[in-house]
Amino acid sequence: MPYIKALMSAPSIHVRSFGCQMNKLDTALVTSALKEAGYDFTDSVKQADVVLINTCSVREHAEQRVLSHLGHLKHIKKSRPNLIVGVIGCMAQRLGDKLLEHEAVNLVCGPAEIPQIEQLITETLKEKKKSLAVTEKIRQKAPEQQSQELEQFESAYGIEDKSIPGQAYVRVMRGCNNFCSYCVVPYVRGPEVSRPPDAIIEQIKKLADLGVKQVTLLGQTVNSYKYKQGAKTWSLADLLHAASDIEGIEWLRFVTSYPFKEFFDDIMQVMASSPKVCEYLHMPAQSGSDKILRAMNRNYSADSYLELLERARAIVPGITIAGDFIVGFPGETDEDFQATVDLVKKARYKNAFIFKYSPRPGTTADNRLQDTVDIEVKQKRNLELLTVQEKISDELSRDFLGKQVKVLVEGLSKKSRVNLDKDENPQLIGRTSGDWIVVFNGPESLAGTFAAVKIEGISPLTLFGRLA
Ligand code: SAM
Ligand code: SF4
Repeated sequence: MPYIKALMSAPSIHVRSFGCQMNKLDTALVTSALKEAGYDFTDSVKQADVVLINTCSVREHAEQRVLSHLGHLKHIKKSRPNLIVGVIGCMAQRLGDKLLEHEAVNLVCGPAEIPQIEQLITETLKEKKKSLAVTEKIRQKAPEQQSQELEQFESAYGIEDKSIPGQAYVRVMRGCNNFCSYCVVPYVRGPEVSRPPDAIIEQIKKLADLGVKQVTLLGQTVNSYKYKQGAKTWSLADLLHAASDIEGIEWLRFVTSYPFKEFFDDIMQVMASSPKVCEYLHMPAQSGSDKILRAMNRNYSADSYLELLERARAIVPGITIAGDFIVGFPGETDEDFQATVDLVKKARYKNAFIFKYSPRPGTTADNRLQDTVDIEVKQKRNLELLTVQEKISDELSRDFLGKQVKVLVEGLSKKSRVNLDKDENPQLIGRTSGDWIVVFNGPESLAGTFAAVKIEGISPLTLFGRLA
């Protein structure tokens, strides 16, 4: 009998997750595997025997938050020395044994090693020793057995996102080969590997059986998904076609797209022809200056990026587009920044995620370029770009006034109630197929279902309405 199941009472695990959707999915996979192994889960650190932290390394700020959390746990461990603290995810892979030296930390496990997580926790509990599982030479092709273990671990679980009923993420690719000069992802997540289409489709079917209505396909450059199977090479468009045939799945999304010319039109065409593929494209530009784009090792120009947006809008007229930008990249002058402002004005995004450049150790930008832009300038540019974007979001949201939209209801909204209705229904939050956030009052039981909402008010990023 496994060690945990033989114990009088199962150890309790508390998990905290930082970072992107990939991390949310890894957290869900690890949670599901540990539950199956017999562990209990708790929302409270106080009641936990084990605290697991899933970490992000994309910006220094994300790592600082983890380190400050570890400081807090070190303090707790003074009165509870038996508490086990495990660090998983990108920071675990990046810092490895350095992280294990931290007084609070008992185990460190990189993203490609998560199939071992149960064994690592069990050993640490039993033997009270420190454990390290990170992938050496992560950019080299993984041995067949290790790849199989990762694939089996991934496909064993049909994971619904418990925080958002009716929704789930499915990874279609691991890693990244793009090496944007500022980015740590290729070094901590390893080379790009597309998962077998059969495993992906099986997983989506399993999720549909669980009642999932929306699946988001995940990959760092998801539009370059490619898998050779017999005579056929599967693309993301093929996956979207096949997933559209699955009964029960009503909405399909995919993130994040890279502005590749060659992996574009066929995907837009599936979006136009399949009612299940949401008319939404998240395609970061990062900068509007060709000089900065070259320094970032992004292989396109501002004009060719904008041409892709034009193509997307020609094929899918109602498409909603979102972007990412980095301001204050080394060498970014006022003129370069102005070029980014111009691109944002032309692109007319629904929303854009704007980040201040954060030097990441080991990346080409950090090795070769000085972080020349002052933090005050980064801050000012960040704010200015947000203001430009906010005006566009506001203009776009006006189109919804008086219209009825279909939303997938996520559940209770975090903010206080908006008194559009005077009845007892709480404030709910949902999203349209174009990813617009919609706030309205309704019964909580609508979470995980589709609802029709008439839009009566707007703010730049949120639409307000009442159930139609
Ligand atoms: N693979 C996706 C792509 O290429 O768009 C997203 C990867 S990354 C986790 C998400 C976003 O973080 C990027 O689009 C970029 O804007 C931002 N980012 C990555 N590295 C950064 C850095 N060193 N400093 C600031 N922002 C960064
Ligand atoms: Fe990072 Fe670029 Fe890969 Fe995105 S495409 S994960 S930004 S290296």
